[in-house]
Formats: sequence, structure tokens, C-alpha cells
Amino acid sequence: MSKSAVNKHSAYVFCITNQKGGVGKTTTAINLAAALSMLKKRVLLIDLDPQGNATMGSGIDKNAAAINLYQVLIGTEGIKNARQRSESGGYDVLPSNRELSGAEIDLIQMEKREQQLKQALADVSDDYDFILIDCPPTLSLLTLNGLASAHGVIIPMQCEYFALEGLSDLVNTVKRVYRNINPDLRLIGLLRVMFDTRVTLQQQVSAQIEAHFGDKVFSTIVPRNVRLAEAPSHGLPGVIYDPSSRGAKAYMEFGRELIKRLKKEAQAK
Ligand code: ATP
Ligand code: MG
Repeated sequence: MSKSAVNKHSAYVFCITNQKGGVGKTTTAINLAAALSMLKKRVLLIDLDPQGNATMGSGIDKNAAAINLYQVLIGTEGIKNARQRSESGGYDVLPSNRELSGAEIDLIQMEKREQQLKQALADVSDDYDFILIDCPPTLSLLTLNGLASAHGVIIPMQCEYFALEGLSDLVNTVKRVYRNINPDLRLIGLLRVMFDTRVTLQQQVSAQIEAHFGDKVFSTIVPRNVRLAEAPSHGLPGVIYDPSSRGAKAYMEFGRELIKRLKKEAQAK
């Protein structure tokens, strides 16, 4: 893909995923979406989790979103009717709420049940530079729809004792999806989040991750920072809520690093 592809043609589609719960997927998805928007990229954030945290954290009332990802997946509404603007974040959102938990059952009966999101995205992918998918903490049919639609996965992770073990399951899943469903899928990178430099174990695990995954590890490290945790209750991405906080600065840096990495890869092709 040429450099101009980032600006003009169809979007990069990335899943923010980790089957472990509470590791910072949604925080990463929201703040990356806002950071990329501030860097003048056109972004759509897809909330693939019935918890609707990415929706709420973008300042959109999930319960008022009568048309949402659920109807899009089961094919009763077009994606253009369902997307909404996050005024606070500067990006578009495909909102979700608990209705989405019913989608699993509806999808099972459908043909190409793992391809529904991908088919829906075809209608809007020219409108964006980036489509980010916030995945739920499960390997469900919903997550599979995300992985089937994506060019790559971004894995946020905490540097804890069992992190590497969980990671190998996830990497195997990505490989299986790549072989069987989506030959475009690849690992974009691992992002260390909620990092506390004072904890020796975290530094050790961080070093292990670097040794194991090499340049697949983003050099940006997101610190544990209370401002990032406070932001969603104000319906704001952390990078907007308190731009001067360490967490916000890290996510801005992550946005820049991601763009730089994609440009470099495109030039190498
Ligand atoms: P789930 O698996 O339930 O979808 P998740 O992986 O999306 O969870 P988040 O919701 O992003 O994880 O984060 C879990 C909690 O940790 C939230 O309360 C969030 O505000 C907080 N959190 C995330 N990142 C940070 C950080 N860097 N510093 C401090 N708190 C954070
Ligand atoms: Mg989440």
C-alpha cells in the first residue's frame, strides 16, 4: 500500500483484542481513535462488546442508540444509519448495547455468519483512514466477525506473570483465523499498558515480551494513570479529558508510532 493509501483509499481495519478481561482494550480503542483523529485521520470506532463501554466512553448514550451494531450484524439496518459522531472524540462510532449479546444466536443461523461485519464495512471503508474494533474479552462469534474483517490485531497487555501464557493462546487464534478465514490478518503489535515502572516484576515481564516478540512490541508504553480511568465517566477519551496527563501523552505517542510504523511498512513493500 502506498503512502497515499493511508489518506485516500479504503481504511486500515484493526482489532483491539485480548481474550483476557480488563486489560485495557477499550481504553486503548477509545484513546487511539481520539489520538488518530487529532492527527487528522478519519476514524470509525466499532464497539463489538455488548457492555457498550467504548460507546459510553466516547460520549454516546448506549441505551439511546436504537439503531446499533446489532441491527447491522443481522442485516436489518445499514451501517450508515447506525454510525454516530462522537463530538467529544472527533471520530465516528458504531455503537452497541446489551442488544448485541443476542446477535450470537441470530448469527448462528445465518450463512457466512463470521463475515457479517466485513460485509457491512464494505459500505463505509472509503470514508475512513482507520476502522478500530473494540473486541469483547471472549473468543465468540462476535470476536470472530471482528477478526474476519481486520487487516491486523493490536494487543494491549499488562506486564503480569501469566501475560505471556495467555498471549500464546491469542497468537494461535490469530494464526488459525489467518489460515482458515482471513488471509489478510496479521499481528500489528503488542502494546504494554497500565505499566508501573516501580514494579520489578512488570519490568521483567516487559523485557521477556521484548525478547520474545522483538519489533512486534510497540516502543510506546502506556503508564498506569488515574486520569485515563476517570475520563470515561465524563464521556471523554483520556487524551481529550486531560491532554497533559502522562496517560494522554502516551496514547498520543502511540498514535504517532502506529502511523510511522504503517508508513515504514508501506514503503518497504
Ligand atoms: P473488558 O475485557 O471488560 O472489555 P478492557 O480490556 O476493555 O476490559 P478497560 O475497560 O479498557 O479494559 O480497562 C479496565 C479498567 O482499567 C477500566 O476501569 C479502565 O478505566 C482502567 N484502565 C485502563 N487503562 C488504564 C491505565 N493506563 N491506567 C489506569 N487505569 C486504566
Ligand atoms: Mg472493553
